[in-house]
Amino acid sequence: HNIEFEPFTLITPNARMSPSVHGGRAKCLQRLIRLDMPVPTTVALSFDTVREIARGQMPEMSSLLEPFGDAPLLSVRPSSADSDWGGPGAILNIGFNNARHRELTEKIGLEAATALYLRFVQSYSVVVARLDPEQFHLPDAPTEAALRSMLEAYEYETDELFPQDPAQQLAEVLRSMARAWDGTTARLLRQAKGAPADAGLGLVVQAMAMGVGRGKSGSGVIQFVDDKTGEQRITGRYLSQSQGREALTKTKEALFITKDDRGLSVEEELPEVFAQLAGYRDLCRIRLREEMQIEFTVEDGELHVLDAIRVQRSNRASVKIAVDLALDGIIPTDEAVMRVDPAILSELLHRQVDPSATPDVIVAGIAASPGAACGRIVFTANEAQASAARSEACILVRRETTPEDIRGMHAASAVITVRGGITSHAAVIGRGLGLPCVVGASDLVIDRKRKVMIAPDGREFREGDVITVNGTSGRVLAGMVPLMEPALDGAFRQLLDWADEFRDIGIRANADTPADAQIARNFAAQGIGLCRTEHMFFEGDRLGVMREMIFAHTAEDRRAVLDRLLPMQRGDFIALFQIMHGTPVCIRLFDPPLHEFLPADKSGHRELAEQLSLPLSEVTSRVEALTEYNPMLGMRGVRLGLSYPEIYDMQARAIFEATVEASRSGDPVVPEIMIPLVSAMREVELVKSRIDAVAAAVRAETGVDFRFRYGVMVETPRAALRAEEIAMHAQFLSFGTNDLTQMTYGLSRDDAGRFMSAYVQAGVYAEDPFHTLDVEGVGELLSMGAERGRKGREDVVLSICGEHGGSRSAISFCRSQKFDYVSCSPFRVPAARLSAAQLAI
Ligand code: PEP
Ligand code: MG
Repeated sequence: HNIEFEPFTLITPNARMSPSVHGGRAKCLQRLIRLDMPVPTTVALSFDTVREIARGQMPEMSSLLEPFGDAPLLSVRPSSADSDWGGPGAILNIGFNNARHRELTEKIGLEAATALYLRFVQSYSVVVARLDPEQFHLPDAPTEAALRSMLEAYEYETDELFPQDPAQQLAEVLRSMARAWDGTTARLLRQAKGAPADAGLGLVVQAMAMGVGRGKSGSGVIQFVDDKTGEQRITGRYLSQSQGREALTKTKEALFITKDDRGLSVEEELPEVFAQLAGYRDLCRIRLREEMQIEFTVEDGELHVLDAIRVQRSNRASVKIAVDLALDGIIPTDEAVMRVDPAILSELLHRQVDPSATPDVIVAGIAASPGAACGRIVFTANEAQASAARSEACILVRRETTPEDIRGMHAASAVITVRGGITSHAAVIGRGLGLPCVVGASDLVIDRKRKVMIAPDGREFREGDVITVNGTSGRVLAGMVPLMEPALDGAFRQLLDWADEFRDIGIRANADTPADAQIARNFAAQGIGLCRTEHMFFEGDRLGVMREMIFAHTAEDRRAVLDRLLPMQRGDFIALFQIMHGTPVCIRLFDPPLHEFLPADKSGHRELAEQLSLPLSEVTSRVEALTEYNPMLGMRGVRLGLSYPEIYDMQARAIFEATVEASRSGDPVVPEIMIPLVSAMREVELVKSRIDAVAAAVRAETGVDFRFRYGVMVETPRAALRAEEIAMHAQFLSFGTNDLTQMTYGLSRDDAGRFMSAYVQAGVYAEDPFHTLDVEGVGELLSMGAERGRKGREDVVLSICGEHGGSRSAISFCRSQKFDYVSCSPFRVPAARLSAAQLAI
């Protein structure tokens, strides 16, 4: 600091003070004084002074005490730069001694005076002298005998009389608070909340307003918003004959603030005090630009304002409060956008476990998809569908999920898997569906025969038992836990509209079905960045047709079956184009290995043999033929597309026919066609020549012209390295960071969950790279790919569409590389819009 500050400062409207020198509380008290609020005399000690005190250098006590006059009673409170960083608790009634006890006995009566003295001796003994709290219980009745015995206990433990000199008492209090700040626990706690290692502590010394005594006296807190909803509403409590925040702990005896709360209220009992307090609402909002909670004391009918802090608030209320302040012109809209943490938004989109509930945790896993749901346990996708048919909420519990389980997941209210990580099948689908999901709950044992799941503590939960899944925290809870509804209200929408005004990178959604697209549209995604078309094949009776296709013997047979899939897929595309009208839709051609469409076990094979009227042996031999040692690196993506070109032909035709159809009723649609898992430029050329032929055929058949765009998914390291020549054949490149992470690390995305948390705990990886984009490694491939891609085609459109797309760090990286957009799960679109705006402001 360039300016020299005094070691301590009497707070006046013009005193030189700064939050980085004296802390937030001291600065706030100065603001209250400037607003003419009746704040008792207060002196602020700077961070430097408190550091000196901790080292044993006490400031001159007589000058510190001077502003408080003769024989004052004082309080000391902490004042750090950020109130979230904690700090030592307040100490009240410093200066109390035998003389003061006699004097106050005259004024307020023996019982009240004794109660105050007892409380001071207790807190001084425990907090300052660090004596055993067991020895210093407050007695039920504040008698003189009790006081005597507590003073004797002090003397016995310390071999000294209880200090009578107010200056000595104050010095000891300051010293103990200064040292508490340096303690290891306090340090770790605040550093966990983001405090720097050298965070300072200021202290404020304030003259006590008594709150206890003759006449109308007491203390309380008031605030002007509801901390759950953020709506304007006066709440708070007041307790007569009390000090500090007692009104909040003894709520049974406390008064309400307004008479609306039905019960005795300050509004009726102390109308003048109420009127004065109510007048502070606008003062605080307009001048402090915040919703404040005011701590006040009434002494013989007269109001004193001791302190004000930012109202603690729910996530929902924090959105509402920021938006209302901006709507009222008190803060600018960019500040409202900055005030809300994007991480809290996803919580508002889903039901949540009520934080006041006491959870009975069955097991903890990875929080893979946020939100909470209650339901009955089922162990198979079929049971989940049966349960949905009975309109009964169910939770699907599986070792892991496969594409076969998708219909079951649709039917379930939440999903739990024992295996898998943040990009496992269950996690990806769960996030796409907005379905709460806990994966990698590896301490859970499923006994499929007995239809029970066994918790780590040995408790058994059977099929039909009710449990609750908290996908936000990754915990599975026993029984039906109370939930809170989502809050997609006007404030939420308004905040995001403002965010869009500042944002400089596009946000699209990964949406596979018309239902997903509708969610994406509702959250104002600027198009679809990834439509995984294979997911359409799991809906309804399509899986059966898909399986027939897999069992076709010749290309001709295959084409015949695909002809039956064509209208279904065309219908989906028409719906997507219509829902997303006016925004781009990027369709990725078929990607997964074919075995994912076949049942994994014997009974499934038998069922399939029946369905297809084939001998069981033919089914098993086909399944064997499709089995790969390493399916994620086998015949999937463009490799499958080139091996069975009829599949991509059919998809291209469905896309083009849907384009013609959707363009009839609205603006012309320009679909984007994306080729997955490319590793060589020639793959792109080959696919393109076939698709161009399909386009020509559809144009000829329909007599309608249309345009479309080609893109390549860059998700193998080789595609990133060869991006220059690949971009010559593609108008856009979209980085699939799931596969690219998998292949860069050589780390299976479906198996990494087994050791990922141990790896992260040991610091081998800073974070799960499937969760947080690895900027150092994978990021290097992204920037190299982007640079080379631009060399091949100057105006190539660049984006990412892996699960990382919605996260702040990935958005920040993509902005730095001047990408055009990111694409993420529909439910992450709101947080992505807000993060992108904050990065641009
Ligand atoms: C990716 O690999 O990043 C991607 C988006 O594709 P998928 O997750 O479908 O493999
Ligand atoms: Mg991929």
